[in-house]
Amino acid sequence: MKIILDSRTVVIVQMLSRLYLACSAYVFMEWLFFVTKPSILSYYTVAEKVSVIFLSPLLIFISLLPVVLLFFAIDKWLIKNDRLKLVAAVPVLIYASIIFLLAENFSNTLFGLYSGSFQGAGRYVYLVAFIALMLFLYRQSIKVKGSALPGTSPIMAAGCIIIGIVFAITGRSDNSAGPISTDLGSDSNLPNILILSSDGINRRNMSAYGYERDTTPFIKSLMEHSLVSDNHFSNSSYTGASVISLLTGKLPATTGVVYQPDGLRGVDAYEHLPGILQKVGYTNADISVRYYADALDMNMLESFQVANDHSRINNIFTELYSPLFSRYSEQSVFLKQSLDRISSRLLHIAGIKDFADVYEMVTAEKLGISLSIDDSRIQQLFDFMEENSEPYFVHLHLLGTHGPRFSPVDPLYSQGQQQTENHMRDFYDDAIRDYDNYVSEIYSFLEEKGTLENTLIIINSDHSRNPNVGLPIPLIMKFPDNQYSGVIEASTQRIDLAPTILDYLGITKPEWMEGRSLLVPDEDPGLIFAYAPLSIDYISGVGWTVMDPKPPFYTLNNVFVMNCQRIYQLKISQHTFTNRAISGYSNPCSKDELLSKSEIAKALLTHLIERDYEILSLAWLADLVPDLDDYFSISRGANIEKYFSKSTATVTGDILYLPAVEYQQGLYAAVLSKNDTGDFVIVDLQTPLNTDNIFRFDKATGSLLLNQSDVDGETRNLRLSLISTNPAVFRLAIAE
Ligand SMILES: [Zn+2]
Repeated sequence: MKIILDSRTVVIVQMLSRLYLACSAYVFMEWLFFVTKPSILSYYTVAEKVSVIFLSPLLIFISLLPVVLLFFAIDKWLIKNDRLKLVAAVPVLIYASIIFLLAENFSNTLFGLYSGSFQGAGRYVYLVAFIALMLFLYRQSIKVKGSALPGTSPIMAAGCIIIGIVFAITGRSDNSAGPISTDLGSDSNLPNILILSSDGINRRNMSAYGYERDTTPFIKSLMEHSLVSDNHFSNSSYTGASVISLLTGKLPATTGVVYQPDGLRGVDAYEHLPGILQKVGYTNADISVRYYADALDMNMLESFQVANDHSRINNIFTELYSPLFSRYSEQSVFLKQSLDRISSRLLHIAGIKDFADVYEMVTAEKLGISLSIDDSRIQQLFDFMEENSEPYFVHLHLLGTHGPRFSPVDPLYSQGQQQTENHMRDFYDDAIRDYDNYVSEIYSFLEEKGTLENTLIIINSDHSRNPNVGLPIPLIMKFPDNQYSGVIEASTQRIDLAPTILDYLGITKPEWMEGRSLLVPDEDPGLIFAYAPLSIDYISGVGWTVMDPKPPFYTLNNVFVMNCQRIYQLKISQHTFTNRAISGYSNPCSKDELLSKSEIAKALLTHLIERDYEILSLAWLADLVPDLDDYFSISRGANIEKYFSKSTATVTGDILYLPAVEYQQGLYAAVLSKNDTGDFVIVDLQTPLNTDNIFRFDKATGSLLLNQSDVDGETRNLRLSLISTNPAVFRLAIAE
């Protein structure tokens, strides 16, 4: 009896080892796939990249344990010997997936074909092949009693587990979004919130805003009882970044989500509007389009209970393991994207869910393919509102207005015409009419359900047509009881929506949110920032992507600054900084109110520094704009050393303490004090985290001396100076 038990233990250990190694092999193969193309891994440090290899298998293994233990129990109960039949299928499934994905990559690279290319019966050939592969591997696997792998596998697995645990202990980070404070009473009747957005709508093509064609008769009828923004702008020309800025109230440069493959990382994954609303009792739905506008795909965690075609099981799984994954957000982004690759393919070949060709869907390049593309979204919305209890929050993003080609459901202006070019006005206007019809349908639905009077309806778009950020887009907010109706003439931006919703609900805006509440009228909007990516390519089977995002700007290539009716555009790779008037701006500022080009450039540079972008490669800007010497030292180019900005800098009375300045892999603490003229000057520099004190602070000159031994035997005088105090921006440059 004793011997049987022992051999059973051996079998179990071998089985678990095999499973662990299968998880490791899967992660490693996916890691290679991601690391060799522009992907979320492009943003990881070397240490983070390595930690993905070793820590991710551990996370998968832990996640699979409940299933594996259940299979063990069934095996023990059904099969009264020491063969593990059911459990053996788990590593086999993983190995079969690895082989399948490799074959997919191979055939896609060589022939441009993958399982998703086959919509009809062809997909079932893949299914048969996959099942045959699984059966073959399974037979191999159970042929040898207990193990088909070399006897060393428990040692290898143990080694991998130990390294994984080391990364697990050292790589933990606290990613909680922090508490929220509200003045909601316990009996408060929270309103439903519907953001009804449609892609790429120019305000000027809507009759609600005065367009000569009556494209939006229904929305026009809401205007009088709504809070309307006359000059509303997007913070990104790219749908995904625009959606993330809407839902987080943070700018794309703050979260780093500018374009694919960007995703929310670290604490950003948990700081968003839907998360806050969920905490106060909302049920949230994201009805948009996978990958390009989908919040979950961009790693917005603990956000939407219902989201496009993400399965609820998947969501429950994510929620279940959220305490585990939230500690390791780098691994969780990678795992989410990689598991999605295999699951979408397997579901497709099994005929359960089509592999969506999002490119075709949104561009309507094959005419007719996206006909009534939005009907199913409206149906999803109605189903959601029927099935879920109030209050609910919905982010609806329609695509009929996306272009460059349109498939109007009910053509009026384009009737009988051929769509011979991209972005033809008649077709575009008809697509906007469809949107107006959808809004009207939703309104009627709410009316019939009797919930209209307790619903905040927001009409909005993600960017202007084509896609563009320099033209106003619609923002119409219809509050219950027609509250707050009126017109905001000052500029507003998409990141203002989340703070406005929170303000309306009586929830204090969290510190990390950047927009402002539009319920506070006439507040100076300040400058509006928007961003666009580097040139975009479409790769079959991969989708739209930018080529090779590299530091320091990664996917970011265009920074726009809007100052009233003027828009400035910095093109990073093209070395240009231009400005123009915003067409159709309704409430222009006077000349004296506008900032100068130099002031805009300074604000732009400070904006980037604050968000931890390294701006030294923008030194060419000083040739185009005067007065930027403070940013790019006096002798530009070679002598520039480093800029820092830390939002953690604190001012206590006349002392400003900057906790950590990073320079040449050393961390320094600077202490500044106000002098007689009221300027901050550095009075001390400490090196709390470095034992080698390579800097010597010279009180007399206020400069820092670098030790002779550090730079090729040369003595260099460096000067650390403060450029601005709020936020604290420092420049470390060679002193003259
Ligand atoms: Zn868009």
